[in-house]
Amino acid sequence: MIEGACHCGQVRWSVPGDPDWLTSCTCSYCARTGALWAAYAAHEVTLDYQPSAVIRYEQGDRTLAFISCRTCGCTTHYESNDPAPDARMKVNMRMAVHYDFTHLALRVFDGADSWRYLDE
Ligand SMILES: [Zn+2]
Repeated sequence: MIEGACHCGQVRWSVPGDPDWLTSCTCSYCARTGALWAAYAAHEVTLDYQPSAVIRYEQGDRTLAFISCRTCGCTTHYESNDPAPDARMKVNMRMAVHYDFTHLALRVFDGADSWRYLDE
């Protein structure tokens, strides 16, 4: 299991194990956060935070919400607005606590333009 937390610890997630790869996305939001995203099905991700402790940022077609800690500002994960248990969710692996993610492959997703992985 891998556990993640924002800097002040009010927003936490855990996931069952290594993702297949980490994604660096070029879209206008992700490029600013520097997030390294790890994808899981929603039912695989355990979240622990009070709703009042976070900022939910939605834009565009509002299919997902970026979640950031209201106190320390870290972007910890995003949540799909699709309630299905197999909906994709991503956690920001930069929040991982006591876990070295440097063995994982890093792929760049061109969310700014072509909406494809650049290694495809
Ligand atoms: Zn925090």
